[in-house]
Amino acid sequence: MIPVQDLFEEARLLDSQDPLAAFRQDFFLPDSSVIYLDGNSLGRLPEKTRQRIAEEIDFRWGNRLIRSWNEQWYHLSAETGDLIAQVVGADRETVIVCDSTSVNLYKLVMAAIKARPGRFTILSDDLNFPSDLYVIQGIIQQLGAGYRLELIHSADGVSVQPEDIGKHLSKDVALVVLSHVAFRSAWMYPMKEVTDLVHHAGALMLWDLSHSAGAVPVGLSESGADLAVGCSYKYLNGGPGAPAWLYIRKDLQEILQSPVQGWFGAADPFEFGLNYQPATGIRRFLAGTPPVLSLAPISIGVDMILRAGMGNIREKSIRQSNWFISKVREHLVPAGFSVESPLNPANRGSHVSLGHEHAREICHQLIQGIPAIIPDFRKPSVIRFGITPLYTSFSDLAHAVIALEKLASASSFTGVPTGDVT
Ligand SMILES: *Cc1c(COP(=O)(O)O)cnc(C)c1O
Repeated sequence: MIPVQDLFEEARLLDSQDPLAAFRQDFFLPDSSVIYLDGNSLGRLPEKTRQRIAEEIDFRWGNRLIRSWNEQWYHLSAETGDLIAQVVGADRETVIVCDSTSVNLYKLVMAAIKARPGRFTILSDDLNFPSDLYVIQGIIQQLGAGYRLELIHSADGVSVQPEDIGKHLSKDVALVVLSHVAFRSAWMYPMKEVTDLVHHAGALMLWDLSHSAGAVPVGLSESGADLAVGCSYKYLNGGPGAPAWLYIRKDLQEILQSPVQGWFGAADPFEFGLNYQPATGIRRFLAGTPPVLSLAPISIGVDMILRAGMGNIREKSIRQSNWFISKVREHLVPAGFSVESPLNPANRGSHVSLGHEHAREICHQLIQGIPAIIPDFRKPSVIRFGITPLYTSFSDLAHAVIALEKLASASSFTGVPTGDVT
């Protein structure tokens, strides 16, 4: 059995020494008994976001009406993009906020393929987020004859080594699309090393940073990567359905063309000319009117990250993940759990995945328990624990370890009602 009191005492001491502890109070915490370990899927609600949305509705929409487009709304996509750029180490005017990650991926993959005529292969891996693969499969169908998606297979289900990518690169590869941090295992690629390999083969590199932005420091400009996409509702705490973002390296912006030529990406949307002329710069990858009420509060979550500092966030994330993994190995591996994330923090994002034969039911019971502990389950047998240093405490993690041990040792599993979507 776990020495419960000792574990809580150790956690409380670590919490008392945590330089980021105060940020937790900046989030809306209506039910302090809920232990939330799913910020890698949907980030918590910042307190100021509630005020900001009320202001958008009452003042900007209600009071200022259409004048708000000039006063603020028209500039939000680019301004918020510049803030996110600071989180992912990108230059100014290389990031813009719009659409969903899937739609942004579509736009960038189509543009990239057109920029590499005579090359017919898009390379990705089987750790990638399914939506990314679906989008690419659709593009392959649309492009027709000769185009193909090639998937690199992960031998251990956790990681893919850069050498494996090297083996698949050829003169036929136009574009490589990878998640920098894999959604299931948290495996993190060495971004610059992989980007260099891909460029050496003459292909373009597109990173999906959905599980990286706000989770790990990213040196996007420094890596030389061509393209990137990411979402705003995970570690950036932008809220459900907050629009996503896309990155295009400065020197490519005038070469690439969006396949969705809407008026927001036109040189002068309010000219109302009959023929499309693309805007200069990153704006040309906008399509239509952005979802303003979801876009406006993204800057609140991003600002908190910039104030805390990505370096400090990463430092705490590694400290918490290592502590959690060490307790898992001590107390939970003997109870049938396995660690399904890389043990070396240099290759791991900011969540920890645990495997168990009855993972689905254990996850369900954690959420139903008192206190409710909320991670998420991913097929076939993994529970993901999101470490979000702005509001995750060591005590939260101690609760999780204790509850997991109790559930696994109860050892009567009767099945879970199906139908939940997460
Ligand atoms: C969360 C996530 C997405 C989300 O895509 P949407 O189209 O914004 O819903 C895409 N890719 C990855 C890698 C993700 O983790």
